[in-house]
Amino acid sequence: MIADKIKLKIRGIVGEGNVLDSELDRFVYSYDSSFVPLLPANNPELVVRPLTTEEVSRVMAVACEEGIPVTPRGAASGRTGGSVPLQGGISLALDRMTQIVELDEKNMMVTAEAGVRTFDLYNHCAARGLFYPPDPASWKFSTIGGNVAENAGGMRAVKYGVTSDYVMGLEVVLADGAILQTGGKAIKNVTGYDLKGLFTGSEGTLGIITRALLRLIPMPKRRGTLQIMFGALDEGCATVYQLLQAGILPAAAEIMDRFCLEAVARRQRTDLAENTGACLIIEIDGEDDGDISTQTKRIETHARDCGATSFQAAGSAEESDGLWAIRRGLSSAVAALAPDRIGEDISVPRDAFPEVVRRIGIIAEKYGLAIAVYGHAGDGNLHPSILCDLGNPEEAKKVHQAVDEIFAAALALGGTLSGEHGIGITKRPYIAQALGETGLKTMKAIKQALDPKGILNPGKIWRGNEIHAQDR
Ligand SMILES: Cc1cc2nc3c(=O)[nH]c(=O)nc-3n(C[C@H](O)[C@H](O)[C@H](O)COP(=O)(O)OP(=O)(O)OC[C@H]3O[C@@H](n4cnc5c(N)ncnc54)[C@H](O)[C@@H]3O)c2cc1C
Repeated sequence: MIADKIKLKIRGIVGEGNVLDSELDRFVYSYDSSFVPLLPANNPELVVRPLTTEEVSRVMAVACEEGIPVTPRGAASGRTGGSVPLQGGISLALDRMTQIVELDEKNMMVTAEAGVRTFDLYNHCAARGLFYPPDPASWKFSTIGGNVAENAGGMRAVKYGVTSDYVMGLEVVLADGAILQTGGKAIKNVTGYDLKGLFTGSEGTLGIITRALLRLIPMPKRRGTLQIMFGALDEGCATVYQLLQAGILPAAAEIMDRFCLEAVARRQRTDLAENTGACLIIEIDGEDDGDISTQTKRIETHARDCGATSFQAAGSAEESDGLWAIRRGLSSAVAALAPDRIGEDISVPRDAFPEVVRRIGIIAEKYGLAIAVYGHAGDGNLHPSILCDLGNPEEAKKVHQAVDEIFAAALALGGTLSGEHGIGITKRPYIAQALGETGLKTMKAIKQALDPKGILNPGKIWRGNEIHAQDR
C-alpha cells in the first residue's frame, strides 16, 4: 500500500489533477492490448502522469526510496502485457509528454518526448521531406517511448529496419531518479558501452525513456503498391524469397492466408475467388515513375513464375489505399471470428519462412484448431493467430500446447519468440528456452545492476524480480 503521505508527495510533484486513484481510473490503467486477463490484482494503486523529465525523475526518486513498483505506460497498445501493473504500485503514464523538441534538418535527426504518437512524428518529419521509416501497424496511437521500449518494427522493416536502427540517443530516468543522457548526433560513436542499444527493447524494466533522438533519411520520391493473389500460401512465400534473391528489395511485403482473406471478405461484404489461397501486398519505392515501373514489371515476372493468379498495381494514392485495405482490416476481421484470439509474433530467418508456415499448418491440423497466418514475409516475422474459446478448458489446453509447439518450431528453425511485440508477461514461460542459461544470467545481471530494488516493471520478461517486491 502506498501511504497517504507518499501520495501527497507525488501529487506535489506532478500536480493534483495528474494523479488518478478512483476505482474506474485504476481499472482503466490495468490492461493493454494483449490477451492478459483482466484481474483486480493488476489495478495500479496510483496513476501518475508527469509532464517533464524532471517530474519523472522526482517521482522515481520517491518510488525508489519507498520501494514502490512502477510500470511505464505509453498508449497501452502493447501485445504482451508490458504496461499491465502486475504488482500494483504506480502506473507511470507518459502520455502528457508530447513535445517534438527539435527537427534538425541539417543532421537529419529529430528529438521527441516519449509520449509523441509515432504517426505524428512521421508527419512532422515528412512535411520537411524527411522520412522516419518504422511504421508499426499501431502507429496512429502508439508512442515513441513505447516503440523504443519494445523496439517496434513495422511493414517497412524489410527494407528500412526497425526502431533500433534509428535510435541515435536517449534520455532515460533510472530507477533511483538519476537522469541519463546517452548517445548523440555524432554518427560514429564507440565511446563506452552502447547504452541506447541496451535501453531499446528493454520493455520498461531498466529505465523510463523520456526523450529519443532519432535518425531520419530522405523521403523516397515515388511509391507503388501491388496486390498479388496466389492459389497457395507457399507460392506467395516463394515469390518473396525469389525477389530477395534477385536483388529486389520491396519496402514492404505482407502476406496473408485464405483464412484471413475470408475474414476480411466477410467483413467487407465482398466475394473471394474460389482459387485464391493467399494474398501478397507489396510496397515499392524509388526515385521516379520509371524506377517504379521497372520494379513492378520485374516483380510481376517473378510472381507469375511462382503461380500468381492475379496481379494488380495501384495507379493512384486512392487505389493504393484500396489495395492495402485487406491488410489494414485484417487484424480486427480475424479477431471477430471467435471469442478469443491468441496472436503470436514469431520471427525466423527469411529462408525458413515457408517451412515455419508449413509447420504451423501441421500444428493446426494436429490440434483441430483454426490458425490464421499473416505476417511480414519480407523479414520473416509471422503472426499466427489461434482462434479459439479459452472459456472451454479442453480447447484452452490444446491452444497452450499448440503455442508451445509454434515457439518450438520457430526456435528449431533458428528463429525467435518475438519479432516485435516483446516478451512482457505472455512469453515469459519461454524465455529461458530461447536465451539459454548464460543469456538469461547475463540479462538478469544487467537488470540487477540497474534496478537493484526490482521496482521497474516487475514481473516482465521473467518472474525473477518479483522477489524484491515481496520483500517490500
Ligand atoms: C492493432 C495493433 C497493431 C500492432 N502492430 C504492431 C506492429 O506492426 N509492429 C510492432 O512492433 N508492434 C505492433 N503492435 C504492438 C504495439 O503497438 C507496439 O509494441 C508499440 O511499440 C507499443 O507502444 P505503446 O506506446 O502503446 O506502449 P505500451 O503498450 O504502453 O508499452 C509497451 C511497453 O513499453 C513500456 N514503455 C512504454 N513507454 C515507455 C517509456 N517511455 N519508457 C520505458 N518503457 C516504456 C511499457 O512498460 C511496456 O512494457 C501493434 C499493436 C496493436 C494493438
